[in-house]
Amino acid sequence: MSEVAKVAGVATTAAVLFAVWLIGGWGGVSTLHVVDAVGLIGFAIFATGCSALAARSACGRQRTAWRCMTVGLAGWAVGEVIWAFCRIVLDMDPFPSVADVAYLMYPVAACLALLLFPAGYTNQSRTRVILDGLLVAAALFEVYWILVLRDINEANGVSGFAVGLSIAYPVSDLVVVTIAVLVLMRARTAQRTTLILLTAGNVLNAVSDTAFVYLTTSGGYDTGNIIDIGWIGGLLLLGLAALHSRQASQVEEQTPVVPSRLEIWLPYVPILLAALVCGPELMPLSTLGPVLASSIVLVAVVLARQFIVVGENRRLLANAAEQALRDPLTGLANRVLFNDRLSHAVQLHQRDDQAVSVLSLDLDDFKLVNDSLGHPAGDVLLVQSAQRLMACVRSSDTLARLGGDEFAVLLEGSADDAHAIARRISRAFDEPFIVDGQEILVRPSVGLAVASPEGRETTAEALLKQADVAMYSAKRARTGGVHTFSPDMYLMDPIEANGGTRHGAMAVRLLGELRSAIANLDLSVVYQPKFNLRGAEIVGVEALVRWPHPERGLLGPDQFLPLVRRHGLMWSMTEVVLAQALDDAAWWRSRGFKVPIAVNLFAPSLSDVDLPGQIVRALASRNLSPETLTVEITEDLLLDNMSRTRKVLDALRRQGIRISIDDFGSGYSALSYLRDLPIDEVKLDRQFVAPVLVDWRAAAIVRAVIDLSHVLGVTTVAEGVENAETAARLRGYGCDIAQGYFYSPPLSAIEMLELLDSASKAPAAASR
Ligand code: C2E
Ligand code: CA
Ligand code: CA
Repeated sequence: MSEVAKVAGVATTAAVLFAVWLIGGWGGVSTLHVVDAVGLIGFAIFATGCSALAARSACGRQRTAWRCMTVGLAGWAVGEVIWAFCRIVLDMDPFPSVADVAYLMYPVAACLALLLFPAGYTNQSRTRVILDGLLVAAALFEVYWILVLRDINEANGVSGFAVGLSIAYPVSDLVVVTIAVLVLMRARTAQRTTLILLTAGNVLNAVSDTAFVYLTTSGGYDTGNIIDIGWIGGLLLLGLAALHSRQASQVEEQTPVVPSRLEIWLPYVPILLAALVCGPELMPLSTLGPVLASSIVLVAVVLARQFIVVGENRRLLANAAEQALRDPLTGLANRVLFNDRLSHAVQLHQRDDQAVSVLSLDLDDFKLVNDSLGHPAGDVLLVQSAQRLMACVRSSDTLARLGGDEFAVLLEGSADDAHAIARRISRAFDEPFIVDGQEILVRPSVGLAVASPEGRETTAEALLKQADVAMYSAKRARTGGVHTFSPDMYLMDPIEANGGTRHGAMAVRLLGELRSAIANLDLSVVYQPKFNLRGAEIVGVEALVRWPHPERGLLGPDQFLPLVRRHGLMWSMTEVVLAQALDDAAWWRSRGFKVPIAVNLFAPSLSDVDLPGQIVRALASRNLSPETLTVEITEDLLLDNMSRTRKVLDALRRQGIRISIDDFGSGYSALSYLRDLPIDEVKLDRQFVAPVLVDWRAAAIVRAVIDLSHVLGVTTVAEGVENAETAARLRGYGCDIAQGYFYSPPLSAIEMLELLDSASKAPAAASR
């Protein structure tokens, strides 16, 4: 339990005990007097203290508000002390006395404080709250006078001063409560609880004050009366309000608010009430006949006009507020609205675990367009981009332009949907834009950050920041597609790592966890089968590493391989993957399936002359023949140290291990590798394979590489085949082998065994 909750608990218990004592009336009159005085003084000091604490931790106008409150409550406390002294020590009736001066400090200070509390108020709206307060108070006073106070005034034996004073209490209470209610209606979520407590406290105080006035004038009040419970309760609630305000966020929201209908019309209700109550009172003054009648008509007409004007104003204001939240160029949400929706979504995420994702998008080389074609063309491009984005998102998503060529999307709901939308957005820029009759191809860099259910402490700001970091990672990579945020991105970006200590610490922790996962063999391996494009049988599998992270779930290679690379863990990770993959291959063989297996190697390991020996030993210890193994090397990382690399590759090949060039086409020197290195297989990069049906250039390259490979006697494998049409097209081009989601996603060792088993039993079933 928090410190604040404990204090609140103790105070509430004390208040209840006090109330029980007063109701029970134990200990005779003099004891009651003392108990009552102690309780009232104690709670007044409690509320004053809480309020002072709230003032200390608040800032800006809120601080001034709590300072006013503190002064008012201190006045109340002093009043209680004077009262107790007069009553108990001097044994005299303290009403009226200087205690009342101290007491009345409270309503004045409370009004000031309440007017200062809310964020985002203009001077004008503050004045309006004051006028509303007076309006309501005057109307209620009229009702109050006729129903209650008039009788008191007419009662005998009470001095005029005492009557004036006794009326000052309920009237000032009326103003305070009215203002409290009006302010509460405009309050933002963060402040609402505090203001509810404040309002409730003032209502209790008003009830007791009214009862007090009634009892004193009819001569029935004495210290220790049960009506004192109302004051105790009021002080308790005021104290709790102050305590609570210290926990609520004090960020002042800038979103303009349109006053609610209730807020606008509520102040008129008491006027109606006053008219109803006072009308009959005015009836006997029939001498005033025509004057009275025309006055009533006048008031009614003025009110009706007011009705119409206020309604019109409200509509205008709603319009203006709507515009203040829009980007004028594209009509999308602006940063203010986006931040507002994002904080709300993050609050829901914290409360209900509802998934929330943020996508950050920035157009690459937009400045170039602006500089070469001029700003009007840049604007057209932005508007068209906004339209494409709009077509990709759901109506419930918030799409915003945050400035320049920066867009953001708030995606509430399942993380899978968010990923799908992010991919759709990235693909939406495949087609060129037509600006001023020119075709312009603009690529976006897209970053996605997903608030995981475990990450409950995520803030809106952090989530947006993560999406930006992912977006910058995409910008650096320049490979297109969507980058999803992972903590190691901070490590990859030295500026981020040094600038944000918290994120730096997170990445350092991840690195430690990765080290121990490797040391404890906690990495797992999945297998994606490769299929012969002609016969449709499984001709091998590729081993792909996974990290089952205890908190973050199953992590894919893109989430931790950068860490492995940067921190020299490459060989130890490869060792773990290789051992696991060969163990599984040996296990499948023991079940009757001899499956060739491919393992990915980091290119730098290829300059390690011990590598061939280690791999051969690993194979031999499991009694597997070297032909079982293919090593896949990513081509664009091969560049350095060619002579040493060549030596290592030759050594591997001499042993009978097959060599495959991975992601072929994604680098720059692809052809010279084909000429210079001993290669058995080329894996065509997904980036070329995926668009073969729609992009004739990609198709031409795929075709040329397949033809070239055949001339060189190298097997071609197409990666990322996602549908039957692509498979058919590749088959037509003469490609040998295919791998991709169309055939099978990566599988666990057991699932792979089941697949091999069923394929061997029903070969026809697999004939795709
Ligand atoms: P890769 O070698 O190109 O592996 C193929 C990747 O494509 C795998 O991603 C696989 O799940 C994915 N994939 C397969 N079929 C399809 C498809 O139809 N469509 C699409 N969009 N994707 C498909 P994964 O497992 O996330 O691996 C990513 C990369 O991480 C691998 O790319 C490889 O370069 C690297 N990697 C994975 N395991 C290891 C490892 O044990 N050692 C090393 N050094 N690198 C590894
Ligand atoms: Ca591979
Ligand atoms: Ca690949």
